[in-house]
Amino acid sequence: MGEETGNFAEIHRKYREERDNRLQVEGRAAYVLPEGELADKYDNDPWAETDGARDPVSRDIEVLIVGGGIGGLLAGGNVRQHGVPADEVCIIERGADFGGTWYWNRYPGLSCDTESHCYLPLLEETGYVPKEKYSHGPELFEHCQRVGRHFGLYERALFQTRIISAEWDEEAMRWIVVTDRGDKIRARFMMMCAGATNVPKLPSTPGLSDFAGHSFHTMRWDYDYTGGGSEGGMANLADKRVGVIGTGCTAIQCVPPLAKDAKELLVFQRTPSAVNPRGNGPTDPAWAANLKPGWQMHRMENFLNILSGLDEGEDLVDDAWTRDFAAVTHYLDEHADVPPAERQELLDMQAMEKVRARIDREVTDPATAEALKPWYGLMCKRPTFHDSYLKTFNRDNVTLVDTKGRGVERIVADGIVANGELHKLDCIVFATGFYTGGGMLGNWGFDPLGSAGERLSARWAREFSTLHGIHVSGFPNMFVIGSSQGVLATTRTYDMMIQTELGARVIEHCRNEGLARAEVTPAGEQRWQEEMAAVRLDLKQYYLDCTPGLFNIEGSEFQIWDFYYGGGPVQYRRVLDDWFPTHFERDMAVKRG
Ligand code: NAP
Repeated sequence: MGEETGNFAEIHRKYREERDNRLQVEGRAAYVLPEGELADKYDNDPWAETDGARDPVSRDIEVLIVGGGIGGLLAGGNVRQHGVPADEVCIIERGADFGGTWYWNRYPGLSCDTESHCYLPLLEETGYVPKEKYSHGPELFEHCQRVGRHFGLYERALFQTRIISAEWDEEAMRWIVVTDRGDKIRARFMMMCAGATNVPKLPSTPGLSDFAGHSFHTMRWDYDYTGGGSEGGMANLADKRVGVIGTGCTAIQCVPPLAKDAKELLVFQRTPSAVNPRGNGPTDPAWAANLKPGWQMHRMENFLNILSGLDEGEDLVDDAWTRDFAAVTHYLDEHADVPPAERQELLDMQAMEKVRARIDREVTDPATAEALKPWYGLMCKRPTFHDSYLKTFNRDNVTLVDTKGRGVERIVADGIVANGELHKLDCIVFATGFYTGGGMLGNWGFDPLGSAGERLSARWAREFSTLHGIHVSGFPNMFVIGSSQGVLATTRTYDMMIQTELGARVIEHCRNEGLARAEVTPAGEQRWQEEMAAVRLDLKQYYLDCTPGLFNIEGSEFQIWDFYYGGGPVQYRRVLDDWFPTHFERDMAVKRG
């Protein structure tokens, strides 16, 4: 690999330096969940038109779906397509409408970060083709509503409602679910689709309650304060000095419109993002008019296989995600003698050097350009995509406050202290992401009680095992969507789609065969643990060089991938297809009723 890899040692040194900077201040990685007065301020619902007060309902139904985001809509759409009538499906959702992350996030500049033709759920079924390659927020939210209407999911949905308990009743062979609105639902099947992106997280910075100006979280954007809407036009900021904390995927999208509208904008950076080109544009009507049945699945799998390093021949999506991966795959085909570790380095080298070179081209001030450069590998953090974020730092009213991995130090009455200096502000925008610290059960907000009288938290503390990440022994007729031991596809719709489809087929089978109860056996779970172990990705060495983040669990010795099926998303679908119905009765204990 010769000259191409000549800089590896120096680059590794810089990667280590970036990681060490970020690790040097103990506790800075920590986040807090908004509770008490912080919850009223940062975890409110700015979009609901009423407080949702209504009479409690009491129902017997076939399928209860927890969460009305993309996962819940996929579950609803799939069970409807597999024979469950609309009045037998109830989605319980905390927001006042469907959409999940697209309900909560409405910040200016919001857009899909993978191609919308792959990402948006159930496009063929609803007959919709997105207007742009990367849909903006309103189109994403509207499509969620379209799916809800198309499958009749609004009829029985309970919005602005939280589940407080779910217990398996062995005699009735149903889940008994109670909500904070006093509802009591007796459901034959329960699909858990609560997702991991419904609660805002705040940095554990001292002084969170001390700021005397205005502040809000990006996933609860306060247009009453800023004026304008998702297209920008935030006229009320024309005389304001605004600070944004965070430079992840969200900040990359909302910083450019903020810079346009605010008098002054200060961007507080802990770790720079890798910002790749976006190249958005309208959908070609001729292409849309000629789509053949099965096109969306074909396109998703082409995209995901390229990202898994497979040679697909053609690159249907052809964007910054796929180009780097496709280029490396082709290189490897021609250099089959190159050892795998060097192949990985080559991929990083090419992709990240391109990202850093783009910064030099686009940012005029050399010191700012240097501060914006990400010194870590391609797979350390989720890449971001934007065509005007970097150029935003050429504006006179925008300042990058680079904290070199240390983060902001303190929030005080009149602003933010960073690098020992007070930056006075009228408004603070927290672009600090979603809370995942409570694990999956934290996101659900309740802890199911299974058939043996054991809570799911206790069961998983004792032994974390599932079949396919979906079925858990001791928890009959329950389907967990988006869990560990499943897959984490780059376009999340894919993994939720195949899991909810499997769930819908199992439910259909149980209904057709008169099975009242289906529960995975411990032997079935054990088989999956062995299958997972056989394809486990060992990325420990790679992540040792990474700056802390979600993928290495904030610089821990573990990586998020340790907890997922390592064979890749498309292979995972093959596994599920092979399993059902062939091995269903081998791995599931069933009871008629
Ligand atoms: P995030 O990735 O968790 O980023 C949080 C940001 O806050 C990071 O830049 C973090 O810095 C920074 N931060 C935290 N504490 C700080 C402190 N004390 N001082 C300064 N900075 C601090 O959140 P996100 O950008 O909202 O993204 C969350 C998830 O949503 C991502 O997985 C992303 O893929 C997804 N997302 C998707 C889309 C889309 O599809 N359109 C859009 C937005 C987000 P460090 O980097 O140093 O930790």
